[in-house]
Amino acid sequence: MLYDLIIIGGGPAGAAAAVYAARKRLKTLFITAEWGGQSVVSEQIYNWIGTVSLSGNELAENFKKHVLANAGDWRRPYHNPTQVGWARSPR
Ligand SMILES: Cc1cc2nc3c(=O)[nH]c(=O)nc-3n(C[C@H](O)[C@H](O)[C@H](O)COP(=O)(O)OP(=O)(O)OC[C@H]3O[C@@H](n4cnc5c(N)ncnc54)[C@H](O)[C@@H]3O)c2cc1C
Repeated sequence: MLYDLIIIGGGPAGAAAAVYAARKRLKTLFITAEWGGQSVVSEQIYNWIGTVSLSGNELAENFKKHVLANAGDWRRPYHNPTQVGWARSPR
């Protein structure tokens, strides 16, 4: 399988890259073992613009929802012991 882009890691950078790659219709493989990256260790995050306060876990869940909302027509979850991945083909 040939991809335009492979993103490793579900932290803020990886999630943002996945959303914008989807908007540009890149054929993308997104690989992550978890969502949120370092954010999940924060009990509360304050003043994320538009949000007064939320927990790291809530932010991680939002990242996941935002990425999956842009996953496109063809989503292929796969699992191995350490990774979860979503592959997206152009619409
Ligand atoms: C306690 C704490 C409090 C913080 N508070 C704030 C704050 O208030 N405001 C703020 O702006 N920033 C804060 N930060 C910093 C912020 O969390 C980081 O800047 C941000 O998470 C970086 O995002 P990232 O996506 O670049 O990397 P990361 O969040 O580090 O995410 C990288 C992801 O990639 C995964 N990964 C790495 N290598 C591989 C691999 N080989 N295979 C698969 N997956 C891999 C990791 O497991 C991780 O999930 C805080 C950080 C900590 C630890």
